[in-house]
Amino acid sequence: MSHSIEISVVIPVYNEKENIKILYDELSRVLNNFEFRSEVIFVDDGSVDDTFGTIRNLINSNMVQVKAISLSRNFGHQIALTAGLEQAKGKVAISLDGDMQHPPSVIPELYKKYLDGYDIVNTIRRDDEKVGVFKQMSSGLFYKIFNFLSPTRIESATADFRLLSRKALDAFLQFPEKDRFIRGMVVWMGFSQTYISYKADARRKGNSKFTLLKMLSLSLNAITSFSSAPLKIPLLMGGVVFFISVFYIFFALWRYAHGATIPGWTSLLVSVLFLGSVQLISIGILGVYLGRIFNETKSRPLYFVKETWGILSRD
Ligand code: UDP
Ligand code: MG
Repeated sequence: MSHSIEISVVIPVYNEKENIKILYDELSRVLNNFEFRSEVIFVDDGSVDDTFGTIRNLINSNMVQVKAISLSRNFGHQIALTAGLEQAKGKVAISLDGDMQHPPSVIPELYKKYLDGYDIVNTIRRDDEKVGVFKQMSSGLFYKIFNFLSPTRIESATADFRLLSRKALDAFLQFPEKDRFIRGMVVWMGFSQTYISYKADARRKGNSKFTLLKMLSLSLNAITSFSSAPLKIPLLMGGVVFFISVFYIFFALWRYAHGATIPGWTSLLVSVLFLGSVQLISIGILGVYLGRIFNETKSRPLYFVKETWGILSRD
């Protein structure tokens, strides 16, 4: 039997204490059916509920080795996932959520596609009442806006549940950017990609760790990292406003020449308000991109590791 690891499963977890055991049992059931060795890498994203302790109580099974790293604080799902992928030793890496919404039973199907020759196997959630109406609608709207603005197209209802071959993973690890929208980055990478669909389950225990604010911030990140179109919106708005104003100026002069002085208060107020808001929006858009540049130029490390478990130090 070869000692090399075939599949690395990478799972970012934030306060998922109650789900760890359920998920791991299901994972080892699925992974032990293969002939080869696998590893399960948990990334504890600064949990405060002893998620890390729960992971340390897990026991390696026959063909499955458990590993964990704990980040120094909560860095967010996208960074935690990156941290885990950096640890993966397998020939393929499969990322999934820690709440059983991405069923481990789909893994053989993902792996089959890899054997068919695909480097990246993405997944599409078949819409399911278990995901929640608000989540379905907001995510649908997000993908519409994203695809309208960005040259990189993403299928709707995709999540960070996918398989990357070693080749694709090594490519992915070369991205230097700090604000990350992994779903977009992976599509942008190219290679041979395919999709499979799966039926999403309801979150097993606890609540979603994505507050509305986190979701909005990820959406803003996603759009501004893949599209510079919003930067052109002020130009467009300015152009339209300028065009209208030219007519209005001529109209006003014409009225003046005929001695019909307009009381003027309404029009003045309307134009001041309108122009004011257009300017504020434009400055805001510039600000968002400026913020991104600021973040990238700081070149800070993506994350810090507080402790690891089951991972031999490199060297
Ligand atoms: N997660 C994380 N860091 C965070 C937020 C979430 O590692 O700051 C993990 C979380 O524990 C879960 C996965 O990311 O394993 C997806 O989160 P969640 O299920 O809360 O998101 P939703 O399914 O509601 O979009
Ligand atoms: Mg979830």
